[in-house]
Amino acid sequence: MTDTARLTEDLTSAVAHDELAAFYQDLHRHPELSFKEHRTAAGLALRLRAAGFTVTEGIAGTGVVGVLHAGDGPVVWLRGDMDALPVREATGLPYASTVDGVMHACGHDLHVTWLAAAAEALAAGRDSWSGTLVVVGQTAEEAGGGAAMVADGLHERFPRADVLLGQHVTPGLAGFYPHTPGLIMSASNNVDVVVHGVGGHGSRPETTVDPVVTAAYIVTRLQTVVSRETAARDSAVLTVGEFHAGTKPNVIPAEARLAVNLRTQDAGVRDRILAAVRRIVEGECAAAGCPVPPEVTVRPGGYPLTVNDPALDAEIAAVHRELFGAETVLDLGPAMGSEDFSLLVPNGVPYDYWFVTSTPPEVWEAAPGEGLEEKFAAVPSNHSPLFAPDLSVLVPGVRTLVSAALTRLSV
Ligand code: ZN
Ligand code: ZN
Repeated sequence: MTDTARLTEDLTSAVAHDELAAFYQDLHRHPELSFKEHRTAAGLALRLRAAGFTVTEGIAGTGVVGVLHAGDGPVVWLRGDMDALPVREATGLPYASTVDGVMHACGHDLHVTWLAAAAEALAAGRDSWSGTLVVVGQTAEEAGGGAAMVADGLHERFPRADVLLGQHVTPGLAGFYPHTPGLIMSASNNVDVVVHGVGGHGSRPETTVDPVVTAAYIVTRLQTVVSRETAARDSAVLTVGEFHAGTKPNVIPAEARLAVNLRTQDAGVRDRILAAVRRIVEGECAAAGCPVPPEVTVRPGGYPLTVNDPALDAEIAAVHRELFGAETVLDLGPAMGSEDFSLLVPNGVPYDYWFVTSTPPEVWEAAPGEGLEEKFAAVPSNHSPLFAPDLSVLVPGVRTLVSAALTRLSV
């Protein structure tokens, strides 16, 4: 066994499942929406202070940073996000959300639990490593909180990171640790479209330019951007998630609004698709005879690509193999999901982000299908009202973080 794995076992031997479960279930009962994680942040800050960290609260509203110096050595940042989602929980768990319409449906309550316990384990064992540990409780991952914390001085106010580490709970039979060296998460951009037509009476369409019909053509034609304009070797998803127009059946409205979400894995592909969206919107509006050109606006604050440092990922994947078994670490390739994790450090600082699978064995067994992919598609995923990670992942998720940190803190 390597020193890193052995030290991880030492430092996490006192981590108690029952205590973690109580903390996690309390967070799960009390979910808080993006930028409003007051209670969650206070709970994390309390534990960090008790463990000896110097804690700063209120970064971009509710962000928390704890710093622990333990001699000379690298500066390692560990990150966990804290916000819940506007989803009505339907798990029926005894510790289900007590806040109507709000749920920890992305598992960020688990992330806070892992982060707090990993910070405590490393702090208790500080004589056995050397360096600086920076623990970041991130506000509002679901709503651009990473960028907000950077705007509030995250990069300047704390020791500069040599490396950033983080993990996300994901569907899949509990007990696996998907690692991907290089690109692991896609970029996400949102585009707002306003179609300006000419409104009028529903009985006399010839006096109008109907923006509903024009916007419908736009939605249809946008489906060809990925299928007809994007090479098979490039991955992209384009979704029109919002379509707003009209107030009454017999009134042709004057405008229609669309919102488009775009997922890409390459900046050049993203730019070509954005240009195609603009071209199609302008072309359809011209074809319909709209009196005023449409508005096509790329929303600020898109999420960047998440690209792991390959050497760092290989090292962390190796220690995870050692701790949990060679068969538990697998490379599932890049996902179309997006994260603002990589924004937390300045450009060029290496980072690693991996997944922890969490579907309870009985749920996995009962899911229809034979192969991994069929079952994966059938079990509740993040953002589902039925998302319910298995409690067996509590202690392992602490060990993944502690061991990853120890690969860089001099031992
Ligand atoms: Zn999410
Ligand atoms: Zn998430």
